[in-house]
Amino acid sequence: MSGMNYTTDLTSQSDADPNAVSIEQANERIHERLPMVSGTEYLPLHQCRGRYLNSALLSPMSSPPFRASAMDGFAFRAADGGDTRSVVGESFAGHPCSDILLPGECVRVTTGARVPNDADMVVQQENTSLSKTTLSIEKLPEALGHHIRGVGSDCQQGQCIAQAGTRINAGLIGLCSALGIDALEVKRKVRITLISTGDELKSPGDVLSSGQIYDSNTALLTALLDNPNFDVSVGARMQDNPASVNHALDQAISVSDVVITTGGVSVGEKDYLREVVDARGGVALWKVAMKPGRPLSFGVIDDKTPWFGLPGNPVSAALTTLLFVLPAIKHSLGLKQSPMRTLQARCSDNLKKLPGRVEFQRGYLSSLDNGEIVVSTTGLQDSHVLSSLANANCFIRLAMESSGANPGDLVTVIPYEFAQHTLA
Ligand code: AMP
Ligand code: MG
Repeated sequence: MSGMNYTTDLTSQSDADPNAVSIEQANERIHERLPMVSGTEYLPLHQCRGRYLNSALLSPMSSPPFRASAMDGFAFRAADGGDTRSVVGESFAGHPCSDILLPGECVRVTTGARVPNDADMVVQQENTSLSKTTLSIEKLPEALGHHIRGVGSDCQQGQCIAQAGTRINAGLIGLCSALGIDALEVKRKVRITLISTGDELKSPGDVLSSGQIYDSNTALLTALLDNPNFDVSVGARMQDNPASVNHALDQAISVSDVVITTGGVSVGEKDYLREVVDARGGVALWKVAMKPGRPLSFGVIDDKTPWFGLPGNPVSAALTTLLFVLPAIKHSLGLKQSPMRTLQARCSDNLKKLPGRVEFQRGYLSSLDNGEIVVSTTGLQDSHVLSSLANANCFIRLAMESSGANPGDLVTVIPYEFAQHTLA
């Protein structure tokens, strides 16, 4: 255990804010007010991976559609008895032979070939020997139907193969193909506009003047929201004045289902977002008892478009995207929520924290040779520190009243992939 000591400033004994709501309450409040996104599109099957099925999918046919051999071998009638047969034909995959077999006869079959109707057994080639057209069966299959794939043994015609809302994966795409389905009706993409705010921001590639920094949230959140169900566009950056905020919001709501801004939601002199949204429908949520990400805000602009006011610091913006924006979008598509999956891991370091907020620290999760899962801190935890985010593959979740963790403690961990797959 390295026992590294990465502390935040622990000058007071509690980090509680009486006006902050819990993560669960915040999600509830968001979901209550969130307008639903409706609409579907038909897509060719090969474009459906990761999209959501609009309605339950019934199999249009039985698969396999005929009795097929599961082996290269010989098909015959078991009741004929004896361990020799005369080979009277061959059924190759795609080239069936006659269905009629007389007593004592057999046909050669290959894997995937249609088994003649009169045959009820297939013996694999390895258990036979052939002398001209006489087949000697050295070992009989255990039972009737052995090595024969029955009609509909994968899927029966009319069977439900996927429920409405299923996220389409490669396996389902394969199954659809086997059933002759070449297009699916999926839920339409959610149009998201991402806007950064702040007079200090410049785009990467531009030259910085004194007091300026590069906008990292736009690229960071674009990457986090890279999902086949989203259509993400980047709106013009807002300057720190109400006119610019209103103008950017007007443009965004005219083309989006969801607007996400970063920055401008704290208590600073130049934080105008909440004021503007309050005047245009109301801020339904501000402040969640978590760290980082406390200033998270949510409202519905002009009674129409949901707005997520994410905190400006990049790590806070990333975390609140995972914990609130992704579940909300899933909700707005009418999909069932599943709790975020977590792991328990043995902590390698000393993690400091004050009671009063749930804290998410950036960590690195790995497995030891003995199979134990361990997690270590990736360094400084301040919410502007991107290096410890870039080196992390998980968040360590420390409970509201916890005051940290010691080396050897079991801690709850949310791997990035789990967080991003909230939408799965
Ligand atoms: P604010 O809430 O607007 O005061 O922002 C909080 C902190 O996050 C400030 O240090 C901002 O400079 C910083 N910040 C805001 N937006 C961004 C952004 N898009 N990229 C990087 N840092 C940002
Ligand atoms: Mg700002």
